[in-house]
Amino acid sequence: MNREQPSVTAKTQKMNLKGMWVGDFEQLLGELGEKRYKARQLASWIYAKGATDFSEMTELSKDLREKLSRIATINGVQLVRRQVSQKDLSEKFLFKLSDGEKVETVLMWEADRVTACVSTQVGCPLGCTFCATGQMGCKRNLTAGEIVDQIIALRDNRINHVVLMGMGEPFLNYDEVLKAIKIMNNEMGLSFAAKRITVSTAGIPAMIQKLADENLKLKLAISLNAPTDAKRTKLMPINKKHPVKELLAAVKAFVKKTKRGVTFEYVLIRDINDSEKDALALSKLVQGIRCKINLIPYNPVDDLPYDRPSEERILAFRDYLYPRAPAVTLRRSKGEDILAACGQLRV
Ligand code: SAH
Ligand code: SF4
Repeated sequence: MNREQPSVTAKTQKMNLKGMWVGDFEQLLGELGEKRYKARQLASWIYAKGATDFSEMTELSKDLREKLSRIATINGVQLVRRQVSQKDLSEKFLFKLSDGEKVETVLMWEADRVTACVSTQVGCPLGCTFCATGQMGCKRNLTAGEIVDQIIALRDNRINHVVLMGMGEPFLNYDEVLKAIKIMNNEMGLSFAAKRITVSTAGIPAMIQKLADENLKLKLAISLNAPTDAKRTKLMPINKKHPVKELLAAVKAFVKKTKRGVTFEYVLIRDINDSEKDALALSKLVQGIRCKINLIPYNPVDDLPYDRPSEERILAFRDYLYPRAPAVTLRRSKGEDILAACGQLRV
């Protein structure tokens, strides 16, 4: 007696197209015996138009839509919770991923600027001693699909800037982050000009060099946070592996290669890195590098032994630093009351 064979498609898990890009679609369509040019239409439907079901893709033949729905899905992140700051109207979103893990995304509103602060990992393995995310460890990397879908899910908000400064260290998930940036930066994708995308790193020199070679005009921010190895290692354990000198050499090479300046982020922590001496050392450190220094007053995190300096001290630090350093800005964090500010994300 013949036993019925289960069909292959029923047995194997469907592939998720969200996170795949034109080259991947061309290959898939080739395997299905379809014309490769349809890859561009597929990309536009999934990213530019945000389709979540093949039936929406009216440009594609019914036959192809059916074929695709038998083998593939377009799965994204799922919104679990939204919190709105009473202080500045910034918003924090909790998203659930397909395996149940969760990440947070923040939306910030300014006069003509709507910025999405996007996560790249579930947690972060670098364990900076002052950062909430760093206390969770890293559960896993996000896929390119999960990174861009945080923006697609919030696209009704007219986001016009993206910062990869949420949970995680983008350069420890380089390939998926780069793929996500390419999707963001393309008109078949999310159509963000590269200069409206900022990637922030704790400082992985090899990856800074690699990014320099990508020929993308996006912005690079480096979390410096301390002017000496002794202080930086206490705050950022990664500094043991890649000390300040090595980090700055990579940054200088980046500026030389791309002919673009960078931003150094410097979280101001009371009695740790906020003295005049620190400001002087910092200004000397960045001398000769085309850069801006962005000062971020520390946002307190439960159970961590750090505080924000007084307003007076913050302003004194800024005024001492500038004009000793070429450009200095003071970032006022958003969404502190909903724990959405820099370094407060944790799930
Ligand atoms: N991992 C990357 C990107 C995410 S962190 C990086 O470290 O650059 C984004 C920024 O938030 C970094 O500049 C970090 O130094 C800063 N940050 C972390 N914890 C903070 C806190 N509690 N208060 C203020 N800024 C913080
Ligand atoms: Fe990770 Fe950045 Fe937080 Fe350090 S500051 S633990 S690198 S997210």
